[in-house]
Amino acid sequence: MKLLHRPKFYDTTLRDGNQAIGVNFSVDDKMKIARKLGEFGLDCIEGGWPNVSSPAEIEFFKRIKKEKISSEIAAFGITRKINLRPEEDRNLRLLVSSEADCVTLMGKAWMLHVEKILRTTPKKNLEMISDSIGYLVGEGCKVIFDAEHFFDGYNSNRDYANEVVVAAEKAGASEIVLCDTRGASTPTQVYETTQSVKGRISKPLGIHAHNDRGLATANSLYALMAGAEHVQGTINGIGERCGNANLVEIIGNLSITYSVETGLDLSKLTQLSSYVYEISNIQRNNYQPFAGRFAFAHKGGIHGHAVLKCPEAYESFDPLIVGNRRSITVSGQTGMANIVEKGKEFGFKIRKNSIHAARILKKVKEKEAEGYHYENAAASLNLLYARELGVEMNYFDILNWRAFVVGEARKVSSESTVKLRMGSHALIAAAEGNGPVNAFDIALRRALKNQHPEISKVNLVGYRVREINVERGTAASVQVFTEFKANGGRWSTIGVSPNILKASEEAIIDGYIYYLYRIRDRNE
Ligand SMILES: [Zn+2]
Repeated sequence: MKLLHRPKFYDTTLRDGNQAIGVNFSVDDKMKIARKLGEFGLDCIEGGWPNVSSPAEIEFFKRIKKEKISSEIAAFGITRKINLRPEEDRNLRLLVSSEADCVTLMGKAWMLHVEKILRTTPKKNLEMISDSIGYLVGEGCKVIFDAEHFFDGYNSNRDYANEVVVAAEKAGASEIVLCDTRGASTPTQVYETTQSVKGRISKPLGIHAHNDRGLATANSLYALMAGAEHVQGTINGIGERCGNANLVEIIGNLSITYSVETGLDLSKLTQLSSYVYEISNIQRNNYQPFAGRFAFAHKGGIHGHAVLKCPEAYESFDPLIVGNRRSITVSGQTGMANIVEKGKEFGFKIRKNSIHAARILKKVKEKEAEGYHYENAAASLNLLYARELGVEMNYFDILNWRAFVVGEARKVSSESTVKLRMGSHALIAAAEGNGPVNAFDIALRRALKNQHPEISKVNLVGYRVREINVERGTAASVQVFTEFKANGGRWSTIGVSPNILKASEEAIIDGYIYYLYRIRDRNE
């Protein structure tokens, strides 16, 4: 096997990533991500598929031209329609008029697709590939050819799959990308196939892997070992079905596992991952290698203690290299060392075996027994420390509140009234919302804004309910997790009660107290 080298990094978050269920980038979203990918230093950014039925895709290419982005911008498209000449195909013409730095053209390499999906002959498919590329090259485009379903095609009809890539090279493609579109190949298959194609093609080869069997990263690395020089993927692996090869993992592995000098600023990897999650508006994978929030989280008492004495005991590399950080979580399994260490994160100096440490540990254990889980609610844990240590946080007191649901013939609405005291003032506010929790949150914010107008910067961005001790049926308790955002910070809180509104109230109130206590005065 060859030693690994620095490949060309080709990002398709904005095109293939946008195909993921739950992701739907606006043009503004795409612009933001493209700038970030450019800053990070990826070589090529596939911006989308300009075509007649998607004006937003065309718009992106117009706007990106006016930006100074150091990466190449690629426009994606497919070979001409069966019965048209290339110059008659409006979508091919749009690729030219996108004025992207290069065009990535996808063509079929698997006979099954040629016969059953395109419903044409093998020869006509080759012509479609050749003359579409020929046309684009003639118009001055640099063309990357994506051989769709290449590995499946190669398995079922090796000669034809080879003919496809040879035809693309002859027609003028400057790079040939072998696609594992169904994500069903194994690393050894990818290795052998890539090596064999490398013997026939003189232009650089690329790999585009999907993750249907969890092998996309491995397959991408094996293709590079076999001599591919260009790797495609998406940030966080977002993409159709189970996603694309994850560039975060590929870059992390190349740099750390294989010591390849990528020239990228690895310390920005976690931030890039987080930024793309933020804009994609999908559930983060907190357990993601390299960039996940829990990638360096240590929970067990023994682990937590050991990792502080000797980080390499449980960490294979320093989290700071990828811009991530170690976290010691505090839970019922926690020992004193974790309590002290977590306290440091919150800015409290607590001595081991002190009364304070013992009191906090006892409180955490009691709360856990009631159903509180602090691993996902660090702000509530920070407040628990502060309360146990006697920190003054008399921002407001809720005197009373109510929320109710009104059912009418065609709609259900909710209203809430909140009465609270701030210093010597008593304030009352009411609001409507799409549910009782929403109405309560709006009413509470209204009341708080009287004294703390900056509260309007706080956004409640996450609300999740989980049932616990289910065996008690309707008397079961629920955990409510809320997530807030303001001043560039994010924080999470928890409430627990048999009453979902009470649990929500607790989590939401903690969220605003935490803002006033820790976030308000941060300058970001
Ligand atoms: Zn794909």
